[in-house]
Amino acid sequence: MINSKTRLYCIMGNPVEHSLSPVMHNAAFKHCGLNSVYVAFEVDDIRGAIEGIRALHIYGASVTIPHKTEAIRHLDEVEPMAQKIGAVNTIINQNGRLIGHNTDWVGAIRSLEEVIDIPGRHFIIIGAGGAARAIGFGIRHKGGTLTILNRSEKRGQGLARDLECPFYPIDSIKELDAHALIHATPVGMYPHINHTLIPKEWLKGEMVVMDVVYNPMETRLLKDAKQRGCTVISGLKMLVYQGVAQFEIWTGKQAPIKVMERAIYETLTLLG
Ligand code: NAP
Repeated sequence: MINSKTRLYCIMGNPVEHSLSPVMHNAAFKHCGLNSVYVAFEVDDIRGAIEGIRALHIYGASVTIPHKTEAIRHLDEVEPMAQKIGAVNTIINQNGRLIGHNTDWVGAIRSLEEVIDIPGRHFIIIGAGGAARAIGFGIRHKGGTLTILNRSEKRGQGLARDLECPFYPIDSIKELDAHALIHATPVGMYPHINHTLIPKEWLKGEMVVMDVVYNPMETRLLKDAKQRGCTVISGLKMLVYQGVAQFEIWTGKQAPIKVMERAIYETLTLLG
C-alpha cells in the first residue's frame, strides 16, 4: 500500500510511455516487501527534474533518452565508469547528495559473461550511439578488444578514437573476424521486425551474437544467427541486468532477478 512513508523512485526521459522499467522495478519492490514505488516522468527540462529529486527527496532515478549525457552536469558526483562513458542512466540520492552511475555497461557485460570470457577476445560492435559507447567501454574495461562499425563515418570514427580501436563501414563485416558481434542500433525494433543490417550469410556459426534491441525479444538478427548456429543473447538480458544493478545500488539488497525478468517478459508478451 502507498502511504506517507513510501519511497519514490522514477524514470526521467522523453518518450517514457513505453518504458518497461516501472513494471520491472515495481515487481521487484513488491517481491522484496519494500514500501517503495517507481513511476515514469516525461521530462524535457532535465536540470529542473534533477533539482526536483533533491527538493522532493526522491530516493533514486533512472535517466533515459535524451538526457543521459546532459544529466552528468547537474549531479554532485559521477562514478568513474559513467564519467568515462560520458553518460549516466542511474541516480542515487544519498542524503541530498546526488551520485550518477551507468548500469548499461554492467547489464551488457553480465549478459555477455554468461556465454563468453571477455579477456583477450575480440568483439565487433555495430553502432556508435549511447548503447554502443557503454558496451564498448565495458568490454575494454574487462580486457576485450574491439572493432567499431557504424553507418555514419564521423560518429563511428569518434567512438573508435575514444576506445582506441579500428573503425570500418558496416559492410566490412564480411571480411572481419571476431568472437562476438554486438548489434547496438535500433534496426529491427518493433514495428520493423523484419529489418536487419547483417544478411544471414555474413554471420559465422562460431560467433556469439548479441542484440541490444529487446522488442521483439527475438529479433530478425537473432533468428538468423540461431539458424547459422551462433550463440545468441537477447537485449532483454541486458535490460534486466542493468535494472538489477540499479535496484542493488538503490536498495543495497540483492535483486530478485527472476521476478524482474518475468515482469518484463510478461509485459512484452502481452504487447504481442
Ligand atoms: P543512439 O545514441 O541514438 O544511437 C543510434 C545508433 O544506431 C547510431 O550508431 C546510429 O548510426 C545507428 N542507427 C540508427 N538507425 C540506423 C539505421 N537505419 N541504419 C544503420 N544504423 C542506424 O541510440 P542508443 O541509445 O545507442 O540506442 C540504440 C538501441 O539500443 C535502441 O534500440 C535502444 O532501445 C537500445 N538499448 C537497449 C538497452 C538494453 O538494455 N537492452 C539499453 C540501451 C539502449 P548513425 O551514427 O549513423 O546515426
